[in-house]
Amino acid sequence: MSDQIFYAAIREEIPIVLLTKDEALTLEAFGFDLIKHKKVDSQEFYQCSTDCLVFNPQVDCAKCSGEGCTECNGSGYFELTEDDLYRTLREIVKKGGAELPYISMEFAYGQEYPVGLTDIGGSAIFITPDHICRTDTAQWLEEMRGLYLSGQFPTHDFTLAA
Ligand SMILES: [Zn+2]
Repeated sequence: MSDQIFYAAIREEIPIVLLTKDEALTLEAFGFDLIKHKKVDSQEFYQCSTDCLVFNPQVDCAKCSGEGCTECNGSGYFELTEDDLYRTLREIVKKGGAELPYISMEFAYGQEYPVGLTDIGGSAIFITPDHICRTDTAQWLEEMRGLYLSGQFPTHDFTLAA
């Protein structure tokens, strides 16, 4: 596990004005680099990707009241989950309107060397204001095996060049 590399990329450029400071900190806690760049109309955007995705990052308890803090049980920090990442992205999309109606993100994981048969894969996540959809490559292949074996294989074949 420790030798694995986890990449993630958000495929849309996120208008900087849509992100609160807390949302930017959450993305950075998960390891995302927020690369700022300008578009022609001087609007600024972030490109968000990482080659070192952090699982269950810890963030400081912003409203901490010390030992008796009910927010963090006195630990001074929270551990974020994958769900928190998706919730944060959904909050951003809710503010996005026509400019950012969805966020699509891809994960990939693997080992540098040697690559084991069970140690590579990826996921795709599609987030709208109302829905969070996710599929994994392993899950998709399992579905294909099931469809093939039950005679319900889809007809939209990948077309090979002649
Ligand atoms: Zn606290």
